[in-house]
Amino acid sequence: MRWIYDIVSLFFPNICNSCDSVLYQNEDIICSRCLLTLPKTKFHYHHQNPVTEIFDGRLTIESAAAFLYYSKGGRVQHMIHNFKYKKNLELGRLLGRLFGNDLRKSSLFNNVEAVIPIPLHESKQKLRGFNQSEVFGRELAAVLKIDFLADVLIREKVTTTQTRKSRFERWKNVDDVFRVTQPEKIRGRHILLVDDVVTTGATVEAAGLTLLDVPDVTISLAFLAVASH
Ligand SMILES: [Zn+2]
Repeated sequence: MRWIYDIVSLFFPNICNSCDSVLYQNEDIICSRCLLTLPKTKFHYHHQNPVTEIFDGRLTIESAAAFLYYSKGGRVQHMIHNFKYKKNLELGRLLGRLFGNDLRKSSLFNNVEAVIPIPLHESKQKLRGFNQSEVFGRELAAVLKIDFLADVLIREKVTTTQTRKSRFERWKNVDDVFRVTQPEKIRGRHILLVDDVVTTGATVEAAGLTLLDVPDVTISLAFLAVASH
């Protein structure tokens, strides 16, 4: 029934989520050329790298890495847009699997024990319908064969006014707080905290500090993308 596929795809072609070219029948989500030329950072092979530097002196971490470089108007930014705003969850899952396969080869990440995604505010998640870090992180955990804990860390909006916030909170400009709901699930474990894009690192710093309040927790960080310079 190849002719049916050909006719249907004439009117509804499957498009590469990265470069927008029409996909061949044996391709899915991302074209072969884009898959082969993904701008990987390879940071997961380096104990110190541009992502670990973002958190230097701010958050005690074991290891940190980002899968891809993104640049304004580039293919990775286009993929992230398709994933987050056009709700292409299959794309997010694919990227999670690809990164998971790369992380498995790194000795820096072989003792992480559970993945925790950065949660969204409940209101934001309702609006979007899903949490992108959860979709991406769930596949990462599956490939790494470790626990995935989506309900241990929650995010709450701070309802106090700006003047009532501490100077520290104002400086950080993070208008929300994180809370660990079930500390017994992470006590003594090495957690891989996962988010989509790392920029200032303020959100992950706040979440990471919250996790480190639980006794004997250590953390590593994994991001889908980091800006290229
Ligand atoms: Zn492509």
